[in-house]
Amino acid sequence: MNDIKIIKTSYSALDTFRQCPLKYKFQVIDKIKAPKSKEAVFGNKIHKALEFFHSKQPVSPTLDELLNYLKEIWPASSDASLAESKRASRGGESDVFGDEQTDMIYFSEAIKILKNYYEHYLKIKDKFTVLDTETRFEVLLENPKNKDQKCLLAGIIDRIDKTREGIEVIDYKTSKRFPAQNDVDNSLQLSLYCLGVINRWPEFAKYGIEKLKLTLYFLKHHETITTRRTKEQLEGIQEKVWELLGETEKSEFQPIPSALCDWCGYRKLCPMWKHLYKEQFTLDDQQIKKIIDEFFALKQTNSKNNKRINELKEMIENYLDKEKIERVFGEIGYITRLTQIKTGGYDIKKLEQIIKTLPPPIQEELHKAKRTDKEYKIIKASKVKAKKNN
Ligand code: SF4
Repeated sequence: MNDIKIIKTSYSALDTFRQCPLKYKFQVIDKIKAPKSKEAVFGNKIHKALEFFHSKQPVSPTLDELLNYLKEIWPASSDASLAESKRASRGGESDVFGDEQTDMIYFSEAIKILKNYYEHYLKIKDKFTVLDTETRFEVLLENPKNKDQKCLLAGIIDRIDKTREGIEVIDYKTSKRFPAQNDVDNSLQLSLYCLGVINRWPEFAKYGIEKLKLTLYFLKHHETITTRRTKEQLEGIQEKVWELLGETEKSEFQPIPSALCDWCGYRKLCPMWKHLYKEQFTLDDQQIKKIIDEFFALKQTNSKNNKRINELKEMIENYLDKEKIERVFGEIGYITRLTQIKTGGYDIKKLEQIIKTLPPPIQEELHKAKRTDKEYKIIKASKVKAKKNN
């Protein structure tokens, strides 16, 4: 009999890989500890406050108690008299918001969110009962192509409610951006939560999987997006998870810059950002700033001086190679070297997104039909003044 191999992972690790393979490498493979971003600490404090609020049932804390709790757990207190002792006792997190003004902006936003949450809760509190908060779950998923391999996937669900219609899983979001309904309907995270709930409480299945509501609660806007899963959709999860695990094994861990870089604690190590954090400047560094300024100036005036533009591009590429980075920052903007893949006239990234929505057997056939694609680099100029996030 063959030994069974169990791979342990979590939804958040797989999600990190999907967002940016390089971040996954730093975090999961190299296990490099990163300072938490302001947004991550902010989100964590709101989650903790809401956990506190719902863990005191059947008599929920008053609004004052809730806000006082937030004050107690806030890293650098907005209460000046407490700030010193908190700074002394809290170590790494205490200075996350940097200065007092930024601290106050985040703290006021947190107060506003909790006040709105509380007011809304009073209106709807008779419609549901909170069954659990910060619920840990595990799901064991067999590799469909190798029965001796299993994946034990762990996760945490923010809140589970019993409603008149059945069960509702709530995931709090402190981000500003809303996903499209279609993305929520196909969200791997919510499918795994659905599986996790049924695994932990098989009796919930009696309501019918379709009755299990999966809700994203956007706290800044006080809006929700809800979805459900069918039995057939859940059956496809195993394949999706193993496909992602397969990708992690053969990945070259390229950085994928996106809006999520604002929350990333690895910017000082990342080839897309580390130039911004450089503190000592050589002659080459001073020279490159002038080259970037000239590049932007020529672009801005729609200059036809292609000869000079190409010379500047070459100098920028040489600098990127020498520094082993993929992005360089100037006074008015930054320049990024990006890898593009050409496949028969299609945008490969968009094509891959479409393929992912197709049934697994069709996905497999399409991947088999893929040719060896041509890779090429482009230089992209962005006229945005970049800021350090920590
Ligand atoms: S900063 Fe952005 S590109 Fe770099 S590792 Fe983090 S998420 Fe990836």
